[in-house]
Amino acid sequence: MNARNKTAADSSTLAARDLSVVWHPCTQMKDHESLPMIAIRSGAGAWLEDFSGRRYLDAVSSWWVNLFGHANPRINAALQEQLSKLEHVIFAGFTHEPAVRLSEQLIALAPPGLSRCFFADNGSAAVEVALKMSFHYWQNRGWPKKTRFVTLANSYHGETLGALAVGNVELYKRLYKPLLMEVFTAPSPDCYNRESGESWEAYSLRQFEHMERLLAERSAEVAAVIVEPLVQCAGGMRMYHPVYLTRLREACTRYGVHLIADEIAVGFGRTGTLFACEHAGISPDFLCLSKGLTGGYLPLSVVLTTDDTYAAFYDEYTNLKAFLHSHSYTGNPLACAAALATLDIFSTDDTIQRNRPKAAYLARCAKRLESHPHVTEVRQCGMIVAVEFAKNKRTREAYPWQERRGQRIYLSSLAQGVLLRPIGDVVYFMPPYIVDESEMDLMVQAAEAGIEKATCD
Ligand code: PMP
Repeated sequence: MNARNKTAADSSTLAARDLSVVWHPCTQMKDHESLPMIAIRSGAGAWLEDFSGRRYLDAVSSWWVNLFGHANPRINAALQEQLSKLEHVIFAGFTHEPAVRLSEQLIALAPPGLSRCFFADNGSAAVEVALKMSFHYWQNRGWPKKTRFVTLANSYHGETLGALAVGNVELYKRLYKPLLMEVFTAPSPDCYNRESGESWEAYSLRQFEHMERLLAERSAEVAAVIVEPLVQCAGGMRMYHPVYLTRLREACTRYGVHLIADEIAVGFGRTGTLFACEHAGISPDFLCLSKGLTGGYLPLSVVLTTDDTYAAFYDEYTNLKAFLHSHSYTGNPLACAAALATLDIFSTDDTIQRNRPKAAYLARCAKRLESHPHVTEVRQCGMIVAVEFAKNKRTREAYPWQERRGQRIYLSSLAQGVLLRPIGDVVYFMPPYIVDESEMDLMVQAAEAGIEKATCD
């Protein structure tokens, strides 16, 4: 067997072995009777390589986590250095330098007023922490009736039961409803639904009136409002105007309700500023971060909160006010070292500034898809660009979901060496920040060809 045949065999053998023992996330495994399982051998920069040497441009940053490319030499070096010192240590009663330095740096970078870091190990866990902390805060402060949460229609906050309960994407939530706490749901400010001629700002303001009414009526029962600032990512990269966040911050303060900003997907530069809340000039009471926190290397999440929150838990042990939540891998030193290396790249490379022309280029390239007879909108927020298509461009009537048109785009773009993973009938680009113009051209070409294939019948 020559080397090329051997690697191809390695790839198909690995895929076959996988399919006999592994159960993959967010997947109907039966699909793999016809869909290829792609076994990746290595990654470098924005590219992934399989065992036969085929390369795929990672236009979705491997589920929105990767910021500075696969096998980034600087993050690799930081991890190697940390690995030689300490891989992990219990985080109750013990601490370590990477977690302390990371907390100091996050507090310095985050919106003002966030002064405490509580670590967990994935996005959903961070959401659970924020929900529990908010509820617990009101209990400790003598407001036992504040037990409910307000969420936005079309929001997504993760898959564990608390996070799923405050999310609102039917596909993920419907079946599990009997297991989930009840929440109040306000209509989304998502500007796809604005009237023709209406500005994003006017529409988001109009939608805020529902939230205002809900808070006016229910604030006595509400612990917190949770939102994904500016972009509802899993809800189809739907976007809204920062004025909604400004108003929401004012209203939460006025009604005595916490604001939880879930920046798990939009944090770390995705919207064009380090944190999306900066667009609105607001500070939430809880800021949830994960995904890009470690540059896409290791699972880690953190909830930043205020002195006021911290003080509500700080008491004699016997008063039983402590936050007794824990995860075994809380504040893992390797993950913190990857996060520190990631923050170092942001500052030494001036990433936020350098991304500006890239975001503009990507949006310019994607804009040409607007003229496609099935494309209803091309929208952008910083380094996130989304292209939505529908059966009827004028009425925006959607294709029946059973037709899975997005899946055709996934397959067609793979054949062109690009990893795109449409959400329903929304194709989006959320690339690592190291992409260059030719790679962005390739992503858009693959999307264009894919949309053509997916809408031709
Ligand atoms: N919140 C948001 C906004 C997310 O996009 C995600 C993941 N896509 C989560 C929470 C959950 O994070 P994880 O998958 O790490 O649990």
